[in-house]
Amino acid sequence: MEEARVFADRSLPVGEETLWTRKFPVSLLKEVASRGWFGVVIPGQFGGLDSGVTGASIVTEELSRVCSALSEAYAVSMFGGVEQILTFGTEEQKRTWLPKIAKGQAVGAVCITEPFAGSDAAGIETTAKKEGDTYVVNGKKRFITNAGLADLYVVYARSSEKKEDKAKYQHLTAFLVEKGTPGFSVEKINELSGWTGLPNGTLDFDEVKVPAGNCIGGDGMGWKVMMAGLNFERVVYSAGMLGPMRESIRNAVAYSQRRLQFDRPTIDLPTNQAKLAEMFSGLYNCRLLVYHAAHLLDEHEDAMVEASTAKMLVSDTYEKLISDAIQVMGGDGWTRFYPVEAYLRDAKVNQIGAGTNQIMKLVIFRGGLKAMNKDLKMLHRRMNKELRVPVSTIEPETKCTIIEENVLRILAEDYVVNPGLYMTREDLKEKLSEPEELRLSKTLEALEAEGLVKLYRGGKGAIDLAKATYVGLRKALPLEKYKWFPEWLSKELIF
Ligand SMILES: Cc1cc2nc3c(=O)[nH]c(=O)nc-3n(C[C@H](O)[C@H](O)[C@H](O)COP(=O)(O)OP(=O)(O)OC[C@H]3O[C@@H](n4cnc5c(N)ncnc54)[C@H](O)[C@@H]3O)c2cc1C
Repeated sequence: MEEARVFADRSLPVGEETLWTRKFPVSLLKEVASRGWFGVVIPGQFGGLDSGVTGASIVTEELSRVCSALSEAYAVSMFGGVEQILTFGTEEQKRTWLPKIAKGQAVGAVCITEPFAGSDAAGIETTAKKEGDTYVVNGKKRFITNAGLADLYVVYARSSEKKEDKAKYQHLTAFLVEKGTPGFSVEKINELSGWTGLPNGTLDFDEVKVPAGNCIGGDGMGWKVMMAGLNFERVVYSAGMLGPMRESIRNAVAYSQRRLQFDRPTIDLPTNQAKLAEMFSGLYNCRLLVYHAAHLLDEHEDAMVEASTAKMLVSDTYEKLISDAIQVMGGDGWTRFYPVEAYLRDAKVNQIGAGTNQIMKLVIFRGGLKAMNKDLKMLHRRMNKELRVPVSTIEPETKCTIIEENVLRILAEDYVVNPGLYMTREDLKEKLSEPEELRLSKTLEALEAEGLVKLYRGGKGAIDLAKATYVGLRKALPLEKYKWFPEWLSKELIF
C-alpha cells in the first residue's frame, strides 16, 4: 500500500516528537481513522477495505516506522474486536460494531492478562456470572494496551467453575465491554520502558453488567475465541516490528556514510559492513516470515505454528538488529538525538507481549508435532542384503501373529538396526498380522514377567514403548545375528 508508505514518510517527524513529549499522537490516529485503515481486514459490506491480514500487516509495518505508540494503538485496536467479531460474532454484533470500527469510531483493546494470570491465560480469575439477560463481571485486567484510549474492550472472563468445563477449556467466555459501562474503570496507567506515549494499564470491573448480546461466540467459547484472535495478533504484531528495523537500517547507513574515522567513512569498515549485511538479511528474513503467515491466515489455513514462529523469530531478530544499528552508530546511537535507542527500549516487550517467546516455543513444539505428523513417522530400517548395512526401507513388512516368540523376535531384530532404541506400540503393530491392543499388552506383560522384555508405561499407565532385555536378546536370536563389523576392520580385532 503506497498510500501507507507516503503517510508514514510524512508523519515521521511527529512520531519522533512523541518520544520527547510522551504525548499520544491523537492527530495521527485520527488521520489513520479517516483513511479507513481501521477497517483494513473488515469486509466491504461492513464498510471495510477487505484487504485481509496481509493488508493489516502492510499498514502496521508502515505505521510502526512512525512510532510504536501509533502502530501499537492501531494494531491492538484490531486485536481487540475485529477478528473476534468477524469470526465468532453474531450478525447483529457485526452490523453494530464493524462499521464503527472501520471508521475508527470504536478503538479497541484486548483484555486477557490479569495481576495473577499471565502466560497461564486459562487461569484467569475475573468472573462473569449470568443473571437473566446480563452477565455480571468482576475482577481486574492488567498490562492492557489502549487502556482508557479504547472505546471497546474484548474481555475474557471465567464463566464456569465446573472442573469438567475447565478440563475441556470451556470455562471462559468472551465479552465486548464498552467504555462508560457503570463499574468499569481504569485503575492504573503503567510507566513502561518503551512504547513511549502509549497508554497501558490496569482495568477494574466492579459488578459490571454486560448484556448477554455482547457475549462473543457463546457461553464457554472464550478459549476458542482467544486462540483464534491470538494467531491474527501474533502476525500483525510481528509486522509492527518491521518498521523500526527498516528505520534503524536507514539511521545506521546514513550515519556511517557521514562519520569519518581513520580517514574514511565508517561504512567502509568491514566490521560495520558485516553488521549491515546481517541487518539487511535479518529484515528480509522477517518480512518473509510475516507475510507468509499473513497469507496463510488470508487463505483460512491453520497458521498457529507460522504465526508463533514469526512472533518469536522476528522479535529476537529485532532485538539484535537494533542493537547492531546502535553499535554501527557508536555512542551517538545510544543518545536520544536519534530514534534508534527508543527502538531498543521497545525490543524487550516484543519478546513478552502476545505470549512470551518461551510460550511461543511450547506452541511451536506442540503445533509442529501435529502439523508434521506424517513426515515425522520413523521409517522402518532393515539390513540391506548386498551392502550389509542398515538402511531405511519403504517395503511392506512381513507380518506375524501375536505370540510371545514372534514379539520377542521382532524386538530383537529391531535391536540389530536400532541398537539403542525401544519400539513404540505402533512400530510393533505394523509387524503383526492381527494387531489387537489387548492381546499385544498381555503378550508384552507376559514377556516382561519372564524378564525378557522391558516396558515403558506413559502418563496414563498404558504400555508405550518396549525393548528386549539382554536375556531376551539372547533367547530370541543367536549372537551371530547381532554381530556387525565394518568391511575395512582387521579380522584380528574380532574375537
Ligand atoms: C507493554 C505490554 C503490553 C501488553 N499488552 C497486553 C494487552 O493489550 N492485553 C493483554 O491481555 N495482555 C497484554 N500484555 C500482557 C502480556 O501478554 C503478558 O505480559 C505475557 O503474556 C506474559 O505474562 P506475564 O507478564 O504475567 O509473565 P509470566 O506469565 O509471569 O511469565 C514470567 C516468565 O516465566 C515464563 N513462563 C511462564 N510460563 C511458562 C511455561 N509454561 N513454560 C516456560 N516458561 C514459562 C515466561 O516466558 C516469562 O519469561 C502486555 C504486556 C506488556 C508488557
